[in-house]
Amino acid sequence: MGVRRALIASVCAACTVALLPSSAVTAPAAPNPPAKSPVAVGYGGAVSSVNPYATQAGIDVLRRGGTAADAAVATAAALGVVEPYSAGIGGGGYFVYYDARTRRVQTIDGRETAPAAMRADSFVNPATGRPLAFADAVNSGLSVGVPGTPATWAEALRRWGTLPLGEALRPATRIAEEGFVVNDNFRAQTAMNEKRFRDVTSTAELFLPGGRLPVVGSRFRNPDLAATYRQLAHDGVDALYHGDLGRDIARTVQHPPVAPNSDRVFRPGLMQPADLARYTTIDRQPTRSTYHGLDVYGMAPSSSGGTTVGEALNILDNFHLSAGDRVQALHHYLEATRIAFADRNRWVGDPAYADVPTAGLLAPEFGKDRACLISPTATLTSPVAPGDPNHPDPGCAAGQGAPQPHEGTSTTHLVATDRWGNVASYTLTIEQTGGSAITVPHRGFLLNNELTDFDFAPPASGAPDPNLPAGGKRPRSSISPTIVLRDGRPFLAVGSPGGATIITTVVQTLVNRLDLGMSLPDAIAAPRASQRNSAVTEAEPAFLNSPERPALERLGQRFVLAPSTFTPSPEIGAAAGLEFNGGGRIEAAAEPTRRGGGSAMVVLPSG
Ligand code: GLU
Repeated sequence: MGVRRALIASVCAACTVALLPSSAVTAPAAPNPPAKSPVAVGYGGAVSSVNPYATQAGIDVLRRGGTAADAAVATAAALGVVEPYSAGIGGGGYFVYYDARTRRVQTIDGRETAPAAMRADSFVNPATGRPLAFADAVNSGLSVGVPGTPATWAEALRRWGTLPLGEALRPATRIAEEGFVVNDNFRAQTAMNEKRFRDVTSTAELFLPGGRLPVVGSRFRNPDLAATYRQLAHDGVDALYHGDLGRDIARTVQHPPVAPNSDRVFRPGLMQPADLARYTTIDRQPTRSTYHGLDVYGMAPSSSGGTTVGEALNILDNFHLSAGDRVQALHHYLEATRIAFADRNRWVGDPAYADVPTAGLLAPEFGKDRACLISPTATLTSPVAPGDPNHPDPGCAAGQGAPQPHEGTSTTHLVATDRWGNVASYTLTIEQTGGSAITVPHRGFLLNNELTDFDFAPPASGAPDPNLPAGGKRPRSSISPTIVLRDGRPFLAVGSPGGATIITTVVQTLVNRLDLGMSLPDAIAAPRASQRNSAVTEAEPAFLNSPERPALERLGQRFVLAPSTFTPSPEIGAAAGLEFNGGGRIEAAAEPTRRGGGSAMVVLPSG
């Protein structure tokens, strides 16, 4: 703690908050939701997430002397209560951390993992020999991966925290016990899932209290989850990986508690307690690329986030994008992600199972080769064929590639920083909004359906595919928690949910901020479009109505309204970010309107 105290003076001269012993951490009684704002500016630490209860939980930990890692875990645990359809201890995620003491960025791969019994054809229907319909796989025990989130929290606290797990879980436990006020977003997400939630008795009991949708403004309590968090506080995460909580998970995966009147088939899963006992997080080198002289750090495979964001930026670094020509800047952004997705789909999977050319994908020379495909006057024809980072092709041929595999959208992202200048950028998920729809009975949380992120079959018979299922393998993710350093010091942190659109949201936000001169809040708020090597680009309504659209269409870009998920208006992503303005000043930013608007807070607002 001595080093950290010393750092206060250099990193945050304006901080005046007294350091309290970590054992003093308690959650405030919060009968009403904390006040919510998408932007906060100040000193001494900050948190941004999609939900004010969760952001407040992290800020309370920071105010009592916790680190960014402590705050990130407290925020994540609270998100497990108030955003249970996006994240929780039944899921996984990726944690990227800038350690101010060592001035290094490090990561934790806490991805869900396939049970040992999984095979390449586990998502093929034996009756037909064809891949399962995506929806059939989503609603199944088969799609549930071994959760990585509890292990991620324990590991983040061990490496960078000051709090025991029980203290970091305390604010969330209290919210679960006392309840939170149901907002439009929570009700809408429940409504969107209502039919399949009714098909699982434990899920209907928890999330459809009294058999009905929760009423906006009412209080939603989850005493089962509070008890589960208390058990984790008392016994540590061994309760899940080696104890009765894990046995409950495995039993539920093998025998989903399907309602007697349900006509939906929930295929049983393959998970055994031994799969939980085998689970470990992985300490991975972050990806690193440079953009406009800044160092951009991200998550390495098993996520495709870091390599694909990095490759797209490497491609864009060959051009001079500027706010003076927004049409060309957006055109280049769309073309860069179009190409980077072709390469991602061909090359990225779990590196323990596939030879993933991470360095090659991130090589500036490869970005330069791929950049030659981009014309300022016409679009590429998708699907573009992948390049070969092992044998770059200076011939500049686009070729014909494979279609984009189906990927769902959900998840949540948070960022946290503390008075010492540590930074956490953390994305956690249970995959689909509402996960597998299977709640572990009397435990208060949903299980993920993350194994649907595997490809169910290769794109063509016999085609190489690094993302087929296998026992012990991690499905390819798009999660892209990002930290940008300038001259070795934190400059930006950003990330988003949204399945494969996570990658495009992060790239677009960086382009908005770094090339188009927007502030971070404006860069996050700006209308989004997501091109992932398809003939048409998904876009939000505001993008479709933008003055740039007709000019982009004249270049050959084609747009379609992004699919509507759980909001009346289609949205892409829900970003959260931080910018460091120098002199200890922090700008924390969340979504102004997407998902009902997020929550940014600082420890000491600067007025
Ligand atoms: N399963 C997705 C992934 O890991 C994240 C879920 C989402 O944001 O939709 O890429």
